[in-house]
Amino acid sequence: MKILTLLAFSFYGIAFSEAQPVILSEKLKGHSWVLKKIKAKRLIQPKESQLQAISKWSQTAEVIKPKKKKKLLGFFRSYGFVHNSSYIGSEAFRLMGEQTGAYEYEFVDDFKLLTDEFLSKFDGLVFINSTHIEKGIKALGDANVLKKFLAQGKGIAFIHGATDAFANQSNDERISGGAFNRHPWRHTGVWSFKVESPNHPLNRAFNGKGFWLKDEIYSYKAGSFDRNRSRVLVSLDFSKKATQKPLGRNFPSPESHDIPVAWIHSKLGGRVFVSNFGHNSSTFLNPLILQHFLDGMQYTLGDNLVDETPSAKLKKTEIRLAPPKGQ
Ligand SMILES: [Zn+2]
Repeated sequence: MKILTLLAFSFYGIAFSEAQPVILSEKLKGHSWVLKKIKAKRLIQPKESQLQAISKWSQTAEVIKPKKKKKLLGFFRSYGFVHNSSYIGSEAFRLMGEQTGAYEYEFVDDFKLLTDEFLSKFDGLVFINSTHIEKGIKALGDANVLKKFLAQGKGIAFIHGATDAFANQSNDERISGGAFNRHPWRHTGVWSFKVESPNHPLNRAFNGKGFWLKDEIYSYKAGSFDRNRSRVLVSLDFSKKATQKPLGRNFPSPESHDIPVAWIHSKLGGRVFVSNFGHNSSTFLNPLILQHFLDGMQYTLGDNLVDETPSAKLKKTEIRLAPPKGQ
């Protein structure tokens, strides 16, 4: 915890102390859903100081030089719960791309735009807290648009709320992985996370160590997440009482044994990156998680080609638990 606290302190230390609302109205022209949600206070506009902090961190981020110019499309329209952190999340993905040169970022807020023709401009697609994507896809009328995108060798990332998608589909059909069940680990709690395969390139953000983070974490329907299909990068560390607690009398239960939090898999010839971090705005200001997201985007875009061997097929998985609380 000490390391994280220190990091957070030094990180906030670089932020400007005076917080001013950012006027993003020019950029938001034509984004009627976003404007409506800002007005209704469902989405919070990031402060200038927060954007400066993300921008400044991005200039020191570790980045792989892209083979060619990459374009990432961000999307945070939600058909279910609207996370007020979605806006800062989208801005974090934009700034990381701009400042590191990893990709160009664009965002839209209408599922009707997600046609084959429009998506052909992009190498990757990131859903930032877009809850119930399946409802948007239904409104669009082309149920296979995401599958066709993957089949072109492109990538899709699902961040936090976006991992609730396609819960009614079969494990074969669902492109994201586990089917959302509930979120016993509330956004006000600080939970322990273990890093699996600490030397995996997509885990470099964590410096070979487990960690603690204040965020909301999902559980998935029994049997819906399959380690034979996905390579788990981060999962809940149940060796700590604080993380067992939300399950109460249900611990140990089958559900409590394995809660994956970040994973990748290849699907239909494309790449899928999933991270359940991102309920809280503070998550998008945390240097560890920003690096985790940036590395995930470079994987999604095809610039960080890594071992995708599913976890269950590994001979041995090295695990790094979170440090005891208070250390
Ligand atoms: Zn959430």
